[in-house]
Amino acid sequence: MYATSTVPSAAVRAAATLAKTQPAAFDTRAVQQRDSAHYLHPFTDHKSLGERGARVIVRGDGVHIWDSEGKQIIDAMSGLWCVNVGYGRTSISEAVYKQMETLPFYNSFFNTTNLPAVELATKLVSLAPAGFNHVFFTGSGSEANDTNVRMVRRYWDLMGYKDRHTIISRHNAYHGSTVAGASLSGMEGMHAQGGLPIPGIVHIGQPNYVASGRGMSEDAFGLEAASWLEKKILEVGPDKVAAFIGEPVQGAGGVIIPPATYWPEIQRICDMYGVLLIADEVICGFGRLGKWFASERFGMRPDLITFAKGVTSGYVPLGGVMVGERVANVLIEKGGDFNHGFTYSGHPVACAAALENIRIIEQEQLVEKVGGASGAYLAERFASLRDHPLVGHADSCGFVAGLNLVKNKADAVHDCELFDPELGVGMVCRSFMFANGVIMRAVGERMIIAPPLVMNHTQINDMISLIRRSLDDTLQELQRRGWS
Ligand SMILES: *Cc1c(COP(=O)(O)O)cnc(C)c1O
Repeated sequence: MYATSTVPSAAVRAAATLAKTQPAAFDTRAVQQRDSAHYLHPFTDHKSLGERGARVIVRGDGVHIWDSEGKQIIDAMSGLWCVNVGYGRTSISEAVYKQMETLPFYNSFFNTTNLPAVELATKLVSLAPAGFNHVFFTGSGSEANDTNVRMVRRYWDLMGYKDRHTIISRHNAYHGSTVAGASLSGMEGMHAQGGLPIPGIVHIGQPNYVASGRGMSEDAFGLEAASWLEKKILEVGPDKVAAFIGEPVQGAGGVIIPPATYWPEIQRICDMYGVLLIADEVICGFGRLGKWFASERFGMRPDLITFAKGVTSGYVPLGGVMVGERVANVLIEKGGDFNHGFTYSGHPVACAAALENIRIIEQEQLVEKVGGASGAYLAERFASLRDHPLVGHADSCGFVAGLNLVKNKADAVHDCELFDPELGVGMVCRSFMFANGVIMRAVGERMIIAPPLVMNHTQINDMISLIRRSLDDTLQELQRRGWS
């Protein structure tokens, strides 16, 4: 048995304590200058960042981070949807340190394997829904979705359907930023750069009730949005469609929580046409929606599940695909070599971090808490923001939540008067959030959170107070500018 929780090395503890008590001395302005001189950030307007200077984040502990000026901030976004167990978990550092000392790297090509990868694959299978007995490891969520594209096409080739290569995704989806990941994603801004999507990837509308459900009940809209999949399958030709991919709850698209009718109807349509279903659970997995895998919550029976982010709580990069029996059996029985994989597939250090992360989630019953008391408390406190004059709509699911900033409220969500998107009201609000000590992300005028799963009731109250204060500040500023 591979053990992760022994050898709490004195050296590691001493180093950790030192780092916490004596942050390295440096000049923030100098760091910002070197940052803009040499470091091209992801999804960033480099020129304007250079003018403003990046925020330098230096430390994290629990649900808090600190910047280089010593400002304490509640990280209501868990880094980037990933730090599920919170910051400062020494037992993960120790597991990583121990693995690095023992075997920092070995590949899984050429008939070799390593202990943490085997142990993690076994653990993940035990946590996954029934029918998942195999895992393919990658270094990130994007690589995992690239793997999906290649794996579903390989599956249909082996089945003798060499034309069944088209994958259907959704507008505003986020599935990563590699060439295939960005193609699967439904972000116009990404497609506009670099001639995407690549051939064989098409998109349908997203189940966004607030944006598109006017005149319909939520349930009726869910069925309507699912029917777009059937239309697209018929348009492409059922004999050409390999798979449908979707996030159970769209994350980067703005925490779009689908009506309850949506996924069961999507599942019915996939079954009817034999289309493979890929659940991208990079955000939704590992407890964020109150289950180990959110598919279980939404009545989905996916054939493949993408994971990353929460599997290690972001401490070390790791991603992968849970491969269900339908695909695995064909790949293994008929496949021969699958000519795909990465140097870091099954990286022993990343797998050791994941094992300890999962042990913490189990020991602290974080999945049960989010599915139970903590999730219910967050939902209730977040819903209390609905009385704010700027908030036209607010909803949540497990430990993700979002609210829509509107110019004039109305009783029905579709009757609210919206801000001109050009004004960038969400970004104004986001700045006040940061100034007040809480990180909330703006997707247009929708403000979203995905807090660490360890956030307790007191911290939820603190977070909601800071959000409310920032909404007040935003309203005042909008009135000052004559926008509201
Ligand atoms: C973040 C994300 C990805 C991409 O993961 P990376 O590790 O950034 O490559 C894919 N799918 C979803 C749903 C994500 O949120």
